Amino acid sequence: MHIILVGPPGAGKGTQAANLVDEFGVPHIATGDIFRSAIKNKTQLGKKAKEYIDQGQLVPDEVTIGIVEERLSEDDCQEGFILDGFPRTVTQADALNDILADLNIKLDTVLNIEVSEEEVVRRLSGRRICSECGASYHLEFNPPQDKNICDKCSGELYQREDDEPETIKERLEVYKEQTEPLINYYKEKGILKSINGEAVPQEVFTRIKQELS
Ligand code: ADP
Ligand code: ADP
Ligand code: ZN
Repeated sequence: MHIILVGPPGAGKGTQAANLVDEFGVPHIATGDIFRSAIKNKTQLGKKAKEYIDQGQLVPDEVTIGIVEERLSEDDCQEGFILDGFPRTVTQADALNDILADLNIKLDTVLNIEVSEEEVVRRLSGRRICSECGASYHLEFNPPQDKNICDKCSGELYQREDDEPETIKERLEVYKEQTEPLINYYKEKGILKSINGEAVPQEVFTRIKQELS
């Protein structure tokens, strides 16, 4: 199964991608995770990406598309993948069509997770991320057993710099301008499925599985 997850920042894409990976055993490809890992390792890519991420802006298409193309060309993507956070622009979506055509892969479903802006702000404000495995927690809605430590791998949890209130506002603007048009884009292709993301994570996952079956 080849699936794309779209939705505003904080919609629960990463959380639901983890559930899908557990259930279906396909790789999870999250451009945000790739960039954060590059930043942590202080690579060229990391330096470049950080300039944009810290401002709440998108990393330029020419950088992002190349990275995804490389990742999708690996063998483990033939049977399936969960693409989380890519594409985020129409240019990226067009590029993805070409990449997948070359690889002979057909997209099954684009899952659009819908949540209100107020909910986005609540979720991003309390989000904590594992510095080792990237797992996503929420201090109130999905608390780790120890507020500083990842339940899954014991890595240290941190708050993302781009989850500060000012950057959240900017990211929401960027989402509306550049990413939201993808909803119609995939609707017209007949592969869009929208899910109400305002429920506890397990219930959202149940809704997702219903849409996929
Ligand atoms: P969120 O989980 O809040 O939706 P991500 O972790 O997916 O955010 O992405 C964090 C940041 O990384 C984005 O705000 C953006 O700057 C950059 N980024 C991630 N994916 C892309 C992409 N497909 N195109 C451009 N920039 C991206
Ligand atoms: P995205 O990848 O779309 O930015 P995340 O999966 O990182 O979103 O979730 C954003 C924040 O909201 C995290 O703190 C996460 O624990 C929390 N969260 C995810 N799903 C839900 C949900 N259904 N209800 C409440 N909080 C949630
Ligand atoms: Zn972890």
